[in-house]
Amino acid sequence: QKLPKNLSPNPKPTISDYPDLRKHNNCMASALTPAIYAKLRDKVTPNNWTLDQCIQTGVDNPGHPFIKTVGCVAGDEESYEVFAELFDPVIKDRHNGYDPRVMKHPTDLDASKITHGMFDENYVLSSRVRTGRSIRGLSLPPACSRAERREVERVVVTALAGLKGDLAGHYYSLGDMTEKEQQQLIDDHFLFDKPVSPLLTCAFMARDWPDARGIWHNNDKTFLIWVNEEDHTRVISMEKGGNMKRVFERFCNGLKQVEHLIQERGWEFMWNERLGYVLTCPSNLGTGLRAGVHVRLPKLSKDTRFSKILDNLRLQKRGTGGVDTAATGDTFDISNLDRLGKSEVELVQLLVDGVNYLIECEKRLEKGQDIKIPSPIVQFRK
Ligand code: ADP
Ligand code: MG
Repeated sequence: QKLPKNLSPNPKPTISDYPDLRKHNNCMASALTPAIYAKLRDKVTPNNWTLDQCIQTGVDNPGHPFIKTVGCVAGDEESYEVFAELFDPVIKDRHNGYDPRVMKHPTDLDASKITHGMFDENYVLSSRVRTGRSIRGLSLPPACSRAERREVERVVVTALAGLKGDLAGHYYSLGDMTEKEQQQLIDDHFLFDKPVSPLLTCAFMARDWPDARGIWHNNDKTFLIWVNEEDHTRVISMEKGGNMKRVFERFCNGLKQVEHLIQERGWEFMWNERLGYVLTCPSNLGTGLRAGVHVRLPKLSKDTRFSKILDNLRLQKRGTGGVDTAATGDTFDISNLDRLGKSEVELVQLLVDGVNYLIECEKRLEKGQDIKIPSPIVQFRK
């Protein structure tokens, strides 16, 4: 006797599991049609990672106060291929029209090409460039086992011991720090926040916290590497003041040395020519590069044209305590919005030119002069 469909002895619900995304404003929600969901729901990557695990963070977090979030994460390098029908449109949406099926991503770490890289220090308080790098063959933070996470830490920390001169430093494991030491590093803007963000927790990245997390830094705290936060590694160059060119020089030099030390031990970074460096969040694919400043803009930030100017210059605004802090007051974290389809040099130059423009506007407003909204930077034809 034939059972009615809903009483089937071996139910395989696909479309009945489609999430309710009606109130959502993130790239995943825009891209995930019921048809794509049905097609991808039962696929798994070689590390047993599923579509539902990729999208959980975007289902549970409909939006973000300032940033249109991505709404999905990769569990491994293969996620971007197995679930390409979701990730490709998400990447296109987030990266200003970049088409990962036909375009190739350029890399350029020659910092000598940067011009006008010294900001007016009456406005710029600190300068920073960061990227992420993932170790090929190990699952990404949303999906990794405890053993894999500890392996990432071991591989990276062993390699970093080979850094010399100004870059030589030490590793500080989160589990070995006192609460006070950790809080001081956070307050000084050197260390990632505690896993307070729902974006992080809903993406399964905060599991086993603080196991195998930590920060490596040189003695001056100008070259820092985060281990096992949102990515296997985050490589950061930063200092007080406005010398973005020097910060980027140290970034390029340090990053090349780190890559060399990792490769010497038989490991390599996740990379391919279409996606560039492969990272946990699709927003960081390509260069993974976020060049930013803490900049004081009391007048411009109260002008109604501020948001439009930032949009047109492809810049993003955050609070100075990090992505989950409110962008209020006079001082902001301003950084490049795009990471993919442009090289490191191009993105840092875009940030440099953009921030110089913002400072120019601030000075004009101080003198009671008018400012102009610049015409939008178009990266790719849509
Ligand atoms: P990321 O994109 O690197 O993860 P977050 O927004 O999560 O950045 O912030 C991480 C930390 O880096 C925070 O403590 C933040 O204050 C600090 N930070 C970011 N940009 C700068 C900057 N230009 N100068 C000083 N600290 C910064
Ligand atoms: Mg962060």
